[in-house]
Amino acid sequence: MAECELIDKCPFFNKHLENDDETVALLKEKYCKTNNLNCARYMISIALGSEAVPEDLNPTEKIKAYEIISSS
Ligand code: SF4
Repeated sequence: MAECELIDKCPFFNKHLENDDETVALLKEKYCKTNNLNCARYMISIALGSEAVPEDLNPTEKIKAYEIISSS
């Protein structure tokens, strides 16, 4: 699958570039570079716009994403 189209502006992807630990690197590979449809940040961006995504939301936090989307 293709790289996420939000990759250039996504705080999660860009804020860790200097000091990627192994976990963050794996998340980038799994979500950002392979399947953004499973990413909590991407789900909110598509549903509500990128301004609705909490700065510190992790791509794995889908339940939190559902809550944010359903309560808006
Ligand atoms: S964290 Fe999610 S929204 Fe951000 S670049 Fe990766 S897949 Fe896209």
